[in-house]
Amino acid sequence: MSEATRQQRRREIRDRVKTGRQLLGKGLPLQPKTSEILAIAQVVKAKLGEADNPRRASEAAELAQTLAETSLAARPPTQQKIACTRGCAYCCHTFVAITPPEAFRLAAAVRSGQAAGMSADAVRERGRALVGVSPEARIGGKLACPLLVDGGCSVYRFRPLVCRQATSLDVDVCIDEFEGRNLAARIPISGVHLQHASNAHITLLGAMRASGFATDALELAAALDTALTEPNAEARWLAGEDVFKNVSRQVTREARLEHAISHVAGALTA
Ligand code: SF4
Ligand code: SF4
Repeated sequence: MSEATRQQRRREIRDRVKTGRQLLGKGLPLQPKTSEILAIAQVVKAKLGEADNPRRASEAAELAQTLAETSLAARPPTQQKIACTRGCAYCCHTFVAITPPEAFRLAAAVRSGQAAGMSADAVRERGRALVGVSPEARIGGKLACPLLVDGGCSVYRFRPLVCRQATSLDVDVCIDEFEGRNLAARIPISGVHLQHASNAHITLLGAMRASGFATDALELAAALDTALTEPNAEARWLAGEDVFKNVSRQVTREARLEHAISHVAGALTA
């Protein structure tokens, strides 16, 4: 690459980061332009590249989760009636798949007493029954997420992106899944919540892939257990070690999402 091309590339990255930071404050439209997704993904990638910052993975998750929150606040659903209410938590008894940065963010929240004051040991103890249970076996298994306390999410501010998109239009279908019956029915979820969370996922996973990290999704309880118990788990993961090697993964992803992640990763590394 010539020096002129390198300079132009650096300018492009600077401009993207500037635009991305502005967009993070305003949120994304439901159908963002590719340039808008790339701008935010560039900010996330820059975060992951902060060599002296040992918390850069959890902070990358925070950027993506903040994006989902800001986008939803700026453009909430107006047409669909959401069935979710406070204290309703059937969905917190299903297999939840999260990214490593989200696991580190959850672990940090637990360690700092922000999970209803539960200790790391208490969270691990609550999650023990879930470790190794397949997604299929979770349906009707009535095994609660270790972070569910008194019917509410104890880490609401820090909850993973999949929990942000699980917004049902029909609680009866959620109850059916919780009870393990009528499984042919798919939970109808809010398209607006899904889209905002997907956009945030694409920026996080695209930036992770462009930075050389695997983008498999990990089962929440086991991933959190690892993030809480492995010494220096975040630093070791950032250094390239697969600290989650014993955690079940969800490797298949919707083709549309996978395509978008690859596209973003390709554009950020070009
Ligand atoms: S997704 Fe279903 S179970 Fe979860 S809060 Fe909404 S209605 Fe309740
Ligand atoms: S992290 Fe919170 S919202 Fe997500 S499954 Fe657990 S308790 Fe429910």
